[in-house]
Amino acid sequence: MTSIYDDPAAFADDALDGFVAANRRYVDRLDGGVIRATEVPPGQVAVVVGGGSGHYPAFAGLVGTGLATAAACGNIFASPSAGQIYRVAKAADAGGGVLFCYGNYAGDVMHFSQTELRLRGEGMDARTVRVTDDVASAPIEQQHKRRGVAGDLTVFKVAGAAAEAGKDIDEVERLARKANDRTRSLGIAFGGCTLPGDSSPLFSVPAGKVSLGLGIHGEPGISDLELPTASDLAALLVRRLLTERPTDAGTAVVPIVNGLGTVKYDELFLLYGKIEKNLVDEGLRVVEPECGELVTSLDMPGLSLTLFWPDDELAEYWSAPADSPAYRKVPGTRKARRHNARRPRAATAADPGTEEAIRVGRLAVDVLEKISAVVAGSEAAWGKLDSVAGDGDHGIGMRRGADAALAAARAATGTGVRDILISAGEAWSERAGGTSGALWGTGLIQAGNALGNRDAYSAADAAAAVRAFASAVTELGGAAVGDKTMVDALAPFADVLSEELDGDAQLGQALLKAAAAARRGADATAELIPRLGRARPLAEKSLGHPDPGAMSFAVIAQAVAEIGSRIDNLSESER
Ligand code: ADP
Ligand code: MG
Repeated sequence: MTSIYDDPAAFADDALDGFVAANRRYVDRLDGGVIRATEVPPGQVAVVVGGGSGHYPAFAGLVGTGLATAAACGNIFASPSAGQIYRVAKAADAGGGVLFCYGNYAGDVMHFSQTELRLRGEGMDARTVRVTDDVASAPIEQQHKRRGVAGDLTVFKVAGAAAEAGKDIDEVERLARKANDRTRSLGIAFGGCTLPGDSSPLFSVPAGKVSLGLGIHGEPGISDLELPTASDLAALLVRRLLTERPTDAGTAVVPIVNGLGTVKYDELFLLYGKIEKNLVDEGLRVVEPECGELVTSLDMPGLSLTLFWPDDELAEYWSAPADSPAYRKVPGTRKARRHNARRPRAATAADPGTEEAIRVGRLAVDVLEKISAVVAGSEAAWGKLDSVAGDGDHGIGMRRGADAALAAARAATGTGVRDILISAGEAWSERAGGTSGALWGTGLIQAGNALGNRDAYSAADAAAAVRAFASAVTELGGAAVGDKTMVDALAPFADVLSEELDGDAQLGQALLKAAAAARRGADATAELIPRLGRARPLAEKSLGHPDPGAMSFAVIAQAVAEIGSRIDNLSESER
């Protein structure tokens, strides 16, 4: 959906005005398009690109040093008129002739060809290289009939770099043509784009499907497929494009993953990673790839893969510097950094632990197992609670943390309780993310440090470990009782546990009383206004609902207490 405009009919012009205003260092506005704002040496070939608007950064965004000299910009998805192209070309000409480069669409062909003839009639050396990279639009034997899509970039880049290098128009044309001959693209879309002022997309793709080879303006594709996984999609695109690997191609390939409008960069990168792996598995050498939005189609949910097969000279022009509003390439001037990609060794993999510490360590693994199980059962409820005034991720965060802690603790089984809890805490922090992840991670690490590596453990040591957990949380988070955080459950838990054990209660009984206090504390947070954390700005919404972190602590405390009381019973029956 395109929502920002005054008058849909003026969308393209208004957008271009704003683009120029935001990029004055690079471009000047012309009647018909934009031109490079920086000086061009006399005699340099002018590379004039162009086409309809709605494809940013094509075409205006690719005007700059080492790239296009000027761009003729039509209305949304409509070719610029011959008059516009003429005015732009005349302004761009520096005496070295004009090379027109544009995607192969009927309207563009008519208007650009008409202009080319007119300029030649006036004695200017005007030439054309049309971009025909879209493999879905015609068979390879009819490559001249194919449409131009993201391959615009490779052709413009090579032509622009050659012109910048001072090559004459014969050479710039030859190189641009060669780049086009060695560029293949294939696109997919999950849906169509919506023209400014319209309320529904130009075309649609059935739900749960992806259309393979659909053109960037909705031209029919090859087929509709079930939505594939990223790995399958990567393999499919690569396989299809490899069937058209040019016969004289070497092993160097430039992959370009191009977002068409609304696919997230994260998704594009995810796909790129899989694509690169496919290419490497084929024995190919990836050269200066691109992944991002390069030739779009308004808000189209889709993407394309381009494979460009440069030989040595094309690779040189592909790598040459470029500086335009949307595309920059700076040659690396420094040597690549050598760094140690191995994970630093955890500070914990230390002493083996006393016999007693190892026994208590096994107990800690059992406790983490129980925690992971209750967390799994409450994940959804905590997520819902966190969505009242937070961001809804408390359940998933606790789940990731508790599972990772358990896995790390299991992996450390056989070491002492200190190392087990430190490993678990580090894993919890690392995997959970979010505020609560950091707090639980720190709490476990400090509890582990408090338990240390001793020859004997008493119930008082358990109380000290819980106090260490609580101090770590308040130190790191800075929250006090009443701030509506997990501290409202944790503090009473630690206090009651210490009191009970001082009064000679058994550990399990003390834990049950402490867990009950934690629960009362958590329930009471419903009446509090949050003073810290993500819920603070939504204080009013939060009123009447308990704090998610306090609630999760109370539920976990109860589960741990139940294990503790089983141990008491066990030791009694053993007696
Ligand atoms: P995030 O807030 O980063 O999304 P979670 O949703 O996992 O993290 O955890 C939210 C919980 O974290 C809150 O309900 C609260 O109990 C706890 N919390 C947030 N900030 C603090 C803090 N400064 N001190 C103690 N606990 C906090
Ligand atoms: Mg949250």
